[in-house]
Amino acid sequence: MIKTILTINFFWLFVVTTNGQSLKIIGKAEPGNVLVGIADNAKSIFLNDIRLTVDNNGTFVFGFDRDATGTHNLKVIYNDGKEEIKKIKLPKRKYQIQRLKIASKYVTPPQEELERIELEREKMKEARSEVGKIDSALFISGFIKPSEGRISSVFGSQRILNGVAGNPHNGIDIAASEGTPVYAASDGVVIIAEEDFYYNGNFVLLDHGQNLTSIYLHMSKLTVKTGDVVKKGQKIGEIGSTGRSTAPHLHWGVQWYKNRIDPMSLLNIKM
Ligand SMILES: [Zn+2]
Repeated sequence: MIKTILTINFFWLFVVTTNGQSLKIIGKAEPGNVLVGIADNAKSIFLNDIRLTVDNNGTFVFGFDRDATGTHNLKVIYNDGKEEIKKIKLPKRKYQIQRLKIASKYVTPPQEELERIELEREKMKEARSEVGKIDSALFISGFIKPSEGRISSVFGSQRILNGVAGNPHNGIDIAASEGTPVYAASDGVVIIAEEDFYYNGNFVLLDHGQNLTSIYLHMSKLTVKTGDVVKKGQKIGEIGSTGRSTAPHLHWGVQWYKNRIDPMSLLNIKM
């Protein structure tokens, strides 16, 4: 028997069936959001064609890209063979348009920097290829805002840099004075911690398990290194203005696979 439930947009959904199967989903189904699920007695779980990683406690995560649209199927196959499908219809999400004036070398990098930028891109690609090897849901520790300070730029804005359309803003910016501590948003492993990248400046990328990552850019100082295991709330560096940055701030970005996730959606998830 396949039970299908049409769900539009949930913050918290809990379904229990008579034979002890239960499914709990925390989060809001919107473009750019991540949701956490906990399933009892689930054999496998799919989001559309992607088989989700489910840890020993039945915890899993999934999310929707900034530009995701349409209806998505979350299918749970239980140990007794029963299937349950939740249809998730994403609402439309509007983003701001943000016009910025920045140093022209960060819109069109000078010839002599191209080689370095390419090398850094390669390093980043290599690091990101390490993501996906942690099956356990390290993020079950929950999520915190990684720094004090005001949100100076929200997620998803379409950016016009010096009059030229650029990439959308794939994170949030938190403005605070240089030296303000930056903390890990959740438990994780440092996939890469590097200094002086052309765009990123000094930065840290954390793997929270099951393909959920968070990145922290433009720091003045790092206090962790590649390979370190960190706890939620552990200091990983300090706010700065390194790389493509006009004033001290933290750029905090989140991805699930390559989906661009609004970091604020993590803060709505209360385990
Ligand atoms: Zn930013």
